Amino acid sequence: MKTKTDSYKLNNLCRGCKLCLKGQKLVLFVGGKCSRNCWYCSLSEGRKNSPQMWANEKPCETNQDIIQEAIDSNATGAGITGGDPLVYLDKTTSAAKALKIKFGKKFHIHIYLPLPLVDKTKLEKLASYIDEIRFHPSFLINPDESLMQEEIEKIKLASQIFGKQNTGIELPLLPEKKKEIIEFIKQIEPYISFVNLNEFELSDTNFDIITKDYTLNEDTYTIHGSIEAGKEILKKFKSTDLNIHLCTAKTKNHHQYHNRLLLHNILPYGVRTEEATVVYFTIIPKDMKETIQKLKQYTKHFHIDSRHNRILLKESEVQKLYNTKEFEINLCEEHPTYDAEKTSFWKITEEDFN
Ligand code: SF4
Repeated sequence: MKTKTDSYKLNNLCRGCKLCLKGQKLVLFVGGKCSRNCWYCSLSEGRKNSPQMWANEKPCETNQDIIQEAIDSNATGAGITGGDPLVYLDKTTSAAKALKIKFGKKFHIHIYLPLPLVDKTKLEKLASYIDEIRFHPSFLINPDESLMQEEIEKIKLASQIFGKQNTGIELPLLPEKKKEIIEFIKQIEPYISFVNLNEFELSDTNFDIITKDYTLNEDTYTIHGSIEAGKEILKKFKSTDLNIHLCTAKTKNHHQYHNRLLLHNILPYGVRTEEATVVYFTIIPKDMKETIQKLKQYTKHFHIDSRHNRILLKESEVQKLYNTKEFEINLCEEHPTYDAEKTSFWKITEEDFN
């Protein structure tokens, strides 16, 4: 069945996916080292193998940095990813514990894990603070039968520790691997309650292989046949109670990310747009103190944004301040996220008031 968010589902969505689609999940990237080296990995060059932690778009050094981003983004849960979070087990459990202490038990935390480093001790450690676990099995890159059975045993163990309802798998939808994906799901079905299938997409780091071996859709970044393969997988399991979610690129970019932007706090005097960006009227001072002194002669409605070294103005004051000819005022449209990615920026002129 097609969902309102352009994805497809069989039965229900797991809790992690439900919150993610509403934009309520903080994405916590604990570090880029991984126990595997999948050719299709979508990590950017900047993140691959990097020890830097990120909470959404914010580089983080401490748990307090992560908590602050959760507050700023109004998150009600977090999804922990990497690399392999088990390479960073202490950092991972410490961050998850800090989030649970700060926001309470209801703050839902899910984690994505490749399987090489998984063992009972690590799973038990994670289970103290993490609610939902989703594994990325190796069979797409290594069809070795004994490795597959070993990984199935690990997932079975996780299911005993986390509960079947909180255990699942997550896979990129490589269209030519449809049969293998179906066979794997059949084997793992007794131990999991959900499967998340991601539409296969082009990224900086898999560009060469994909452009050589696959056909792209008209949008030039999704892979032809990926959604169709996913729909056929959904059909195969329609008489089971397995929850399968086929998450499309459109779902991620147009709904999940858009919803996350809408929830993110904005700075004073910002005006939200329909695209979920924010418009600010700004002065970028050469000398902050001097500009503030001058500004105070005309208005008390302004906000000093020290992090970006700028002053934000109230929209209704802009024309008055412009008319003084004392200030250079800009219109800046940007994402409300920590990196404040700009979508447009221009200096206000007479024409803007006509
Ligand atoms: S397991 Fe995930 S993060 Fe690691 S290489 Fe594979 S796709 Fe990338």
